[in-house]
Amino acid sequence: MPYDQLSDRIGPLSRLDPDHTGIVVVESPWKAARRPYHRQKLALILANLRHFALEQAARGVAVRHVVADGPYRDSLAPLAEELGGLTMMEPAERELRVDLAPLVGDGRLRLVPHEGWLTTSEQFASSQKGPPPWRMDAFYRQVRRDSGLLMDERGKPVGGKFSFDAENRQPWTGDPPAPREPVFPRDPVKEEVLELVAVSFADNPGELRPDALHATQADAEALWAWAKTECLPHFGPYEDAMSRRSEGLFHTRISFLLHVHRLLPARVVHEVAALDAPLSCREGFVRQVLGWREFMRHVHGRTDGFRDLPGSPGPKSAAAAASTPATPSVLGADLPLPPAWWGKPSGLHCLDGVVDSVLRTGYSHHITRLMVLANLATLLDVSPRELTDWFWAVYTDAFDWVVEPNVLGMGTFGAGELMTTKPYVSGAAYIDRLSDYCAGCRFDPKKNCPVTPLYWAFLARHEPELRGNPRMRLALASLRKRSVERRRRDAEIFEVVSQHMRAGRELDPTLFAAAD
Ligand SMILES: Cc1cc2nc3c(=O)[nH]c(=O)nc-3n(C[C@H](O)[C@H](O)[C@H](O)COP(=O)(O)OP(=O)(O)OC[C@H]3O[C@@H](n4cnc5c(N)ncnc54)[C@H](O)[C@@H]3O)c2cc1C
Ligand code: SF4
Repeated sequence: MPYDQLSDRIGPLSRLDPDHTGIVVVESPWKAARRPYHRQKLALILANLRHFALEQAARGVAVRHVVADGPYRDSLAPLAEELGGLTMMEPAERELRVDLAPLVGDGRLRLVPHEGWLTTSEQFASSQKGPPPWRMDAFYRQVRRDSGLLMDERGKPVGGKFSFDAENRQPWTGDPPAPREPVFPRDPVKEEVLELVAVSFADNPGELRPDALHATQADAEALWAWAKTECLPHFGPYEDAMSRRSEGLFHTRISFLLHVHRLLPARVVHEVAALDAPLSCREGFVRQVLGWREFMRHVHGRTDGFRDLPGSPGPKSAAAAASTPATPSVLGADLPLPPAWWGKPSGLHCLDGVVDSVLRTGYSHHITRLMVLANLATLLDVSPRELTDWFWAVYTDAFDWVVEPNVLGMGTFGAGELMTTKPYVSGAAYIDRLSDYCAGCRFDPKKNCPVTPLYWAFLARHEPELRGNPRMRLALASLRKRSVERRRRDAEIFEVVSQHMRAGRELDPTLFAAAD
């Protein structure tokens, strides 16, 4: 049972007689040390793994609990021989698939299909026109039809349209009040894990938050019950809103539990579809899980984790493909990630606030990831790979199959139009409209905030690559109307901001008094 298949309701474990079944769980300090993971993420994974093993033992399942410092294949190989072979659902993570490939190759490990997914690669293929670009909305319409979720008896989408996205873009002003996150009971297993992580990973980033450590199946049920009653009724309208007063607003915070299968995707979409909540909220949520989450996983699979992209020669051999990180960057962005992403104050209130909350909790919601963290890194020409590695380390819900498509594909436009129509970039006006960040900032979004000139400077630098993109036509037409003097000033501000941020120095308004 890998760390992300912790369910006895799918796969062979759901069908076998517990009294005649055994599982192997492996704790691997080697895996934990692969990148500077947020300490809460390590605690979540380890505590869920240990509690799952105990829950299975209580059902009568025999458990082999191995702690081994090295690749998973090294600890599983002798066990596979001793036990006459092992069976596993196909891992979601490429990194684990690569690790286990030798055991699969010689038959010691038998892979069976992963039953946690909601859609198949055939559905993905038939929803698209063929080769990339691939589009989520076409995929989503098809899987809504195929699944019957939120469809009426005539085969039409409930409410007359597939997406209520356009209605789901309200700022949040404090009413309705944001829900308070649930607190989970402590127990000896959690305490032991917290102690282990605190001592063994003392230099890793992130706070350990015992009260937020959901590690038992009962904890998962409690979070899901909270999400349905407290978040879902207001999920839709405030989906894009951002606030310093609430990290997650009406977002459900279930992503980690979905990815490790404490909560099953099929269950959550069916329960939400049937919930007594506004249609825009139910549809918005179903689109995230049935649409975006599945779409990301297919893009990961079809591109071999962004290594096999159209027009790229790709690594020369399978061994090279296995060990080389994917580094697409169609805009040629290659600057290092500034220290602000690791908590050094930048003076940009939006960025500093979101980074602070991620380093504390290992979480922030979608729009903060897209329109603050990825937007600002993209405007600064930060290497998509470096940004991805940061997301992978600090978010509790980051696993390769989901973090790479979201950052390389969506957040940075690293893979161009492969899966999004245009770069998700904006100036200060967007952040000001959808958040309360600007009110507490030393910059004024309408006067001297550097994010807006950064946006224009980005368009100017990348005009040659973006010129052929129909969705960028309007923005580039506005750019051309900008005076030569303003464009010169935009470029100057980009240089100043870029240098200051790379050096870890705080920005302040005296640096660019006349910016707009
Ligand atoms: C730059 C960037 C990086 C991201 N990195 C990750 C990541 O490492 N791991 C991750 O799970 N999500 C990632 N996302 C997607 C999304 O931000 C998170 O899934 C979501 O914020 C999780 O919080 P939640 O459970 O409160 O989500 P909710 O808003 O409550 O949504 C419900 C569920 O929908 C699913 N979902 C929604 N959007 C996406 C998406 N784009 N891709 C996959 N699943 C989605 C998640 O499972 C989520 O739990 C990223 C998005 C961006 C823009
Ligand atoms: S004024 Fe600019 S830097 Fe400050 S919070 Fe708003 S967008 Fe961010």
